[in-house]
Amino acid sequence: MANPKAAFCWASSCGGCEIAILELGKSLVDVSKKVDIVFWPVALDFKYSDVEAMPDKSIDVCFFNGAIQTSENEHMAKLFRQKSKTLIAFGACANGGGIPALANTTSKEQIFARVYKETPTTDNPKGTIPETKVQVNEGELTLLSSTTRSGRWIKPLTLTTMFPVAHLWENKLRP
Ligand code: SF4
Repeated sequence: MANPKAAFCWASSCGGCEIAILELGKSLVDVSKKVDIVFWPVALDFKYSDVEAMPDKSIDVCFFNGAIQTSENEHMAKLFRQKSKTLIAFGACANGGGIPALANTTSKEQIFARVYKETPTTDNPKGTIPETKVQVNEGELTLLSSTTRSGRWIKPLTLTTMFPVAHLWENKLRP
């Protein structure tokens, strides 16, 4: 009988959820004999296009950690919902928004002002904040290309309202 397939994906995450899995240490070798890991960017080189090429529901379980903070996060949550039989909101950020969801108490403008201009350790005399596009002598640079390798359209990286994967599950992803 074929091994079950598992995926691990992170969205807006501190990385701690992934470290918790890595801390299985040598036991991971035993796990890898019984489970085929088909996506796990923190440890193995997979591309988004690899996931896009998988048949729907071909992953038995996906552990998705981190909150949904960007259009890329939302795209990946929806993609893994489509490709997985079961998607688990793994960790406090995926379940309830966690630390990223604290941003919902303020605005993007206030967050950028605080983080990029006002903190005592910030050295930013020009007041530069992240932009999705910038003009340089050679032309315009964009943060994300408009298509992935497989040609799928993906929106430029933008901040969206932060909400947990569990919220996406309840409102948009329930099959
Ligand atoms: S739940 Fe959130 S804050 Fe906690 S370890 Fe996971 S990603 Fe980090």
